Amino acid sequence: MHELLCPSCNAPSQHDLQDYLLMCPFCSTTFSFDKESGTKTLYTDHYIIPNGIDAGQVKGLVKEWLKRLHHQPGRVDKEYFVTEVQGVSLPCWLISLEAHTKWQGLVKRQANRAIDTAAGSEYLPESGVFRRTYRWAVHARRNLHEVWGVDLLHEPKESVRVDWDGFPFDSTFSRGQINLSLGAKIQKEGRADTLAAYDAREMFDFKFGNSLPILGIQVEEEEALRRCKTHIMRYHHELAKLHVDQLVDIRSELEIAGTQLLHVPFWQAKYVYRPVSVLKHFSPAREKHVVVEGYAGGLLTGELPIVKNEKMWINTWVTAALALVFFIAGAGIHPSLFLVGGFFLVVALVSGYLATLRASKEAQEKLKLLDASA
Ligand SMILES: [Zn+2]
Repeated sequence: MHELLCPSCNAPSQHDLQDYLLMCPFCSTTFSFDKESGTKTLYTDHYIIPNGIDAGQVKGLVKEWLKRLHHQPGRVDKEYFVTEVQGVSLPCWLISLEAHTKWQGLVKRQANRAIDTAAGSEYLPESGVFRRTYRWAVHARRNLHEVWGVDLLHEPKESVRVDWDGFPFDSTFSRGQINLSLGAKIQKEGRADTLAAYDAREMFDFKFGNSLPILGIQVEEEEALRRCKTHIMRYHHELAKLHVDQLVDIRSELEIAGTQLLHVPFWQAKYVYRPVSVLKHFSPAREKHVVVEGYAGGLLTGELPIVKNEKMWINTWVTAALALVFFIAGAGIHPSLFLVGGFFLVVALVSGYLATLRASKEAQEKLKLLDASA
């Protein structure tokens, strides 16, 4: 940490010179500092989306979401516990752009229409263009895992596998809203229903963190632009592939209209499942995560509550225990009880095997929150 004088209000404060941009804690001025020359340059395109919710409301939203997913909503309050709620204002680079993509490829003919026998005749050439505009967000923190789940916020409508961390800001910050009293309350305060998150942004000021810690800006603008371009190229590549069986050529041109820096409120909550019944002794009680945005309380992403896989593990343990009991009883009371023990052992083995099969699949499975709130 280094002490620097603010170029605007002249107040001294401590700064981490590894950060790309520095923020004065007194007057909220954002500036860069050149270590060699000692020059400070003001950065003026810095905005913040005010945090609008508190920890109690986040807890309520998570509970409400769990109730929607549960086949017996009444049990949620007894069996699910929110163990931790934490909010943070994260910096993102926001790049406004238009992307224009041209593609060509090959589509396979319907099998029974192949009259021509020349080589390659079963394929038809196909081409097309599409154009999209985005306000693309790229995280300005080095470690994408400081807040669980923010590394994969992009959930496109198309069936495309996302493995980039950037996301279209507007569609992300308008999804996952749960219509309960909190949502209504936020709307009454005149924000959510009248303004999209982006339009509610203010010039950066620490006070709009509204109790959330504001994290420093670590990623350079140039890197963010480069990453943004890569994300869009990959996304559009996936989109083009949906049109053809074989993509041959693709060309995407990006027109960057502007770049700005935006601090965005995110909340992460952890919850556990602790059943009231005898099952609790067998349940692993693993902590699961949910990410809520702090503008209108939209649930952006989350890990599903008790999944079949866990139920199968519980089943495995219960039947294995029963098998053991009957084997002991078989040895002590009557040999016919071995048969019952054997039956439970088979059930335990089969369910353990199936649970293992599912485990790998479910490890990657993230919730489509829109489905849950629809
Ligand atoms: Zn200052």
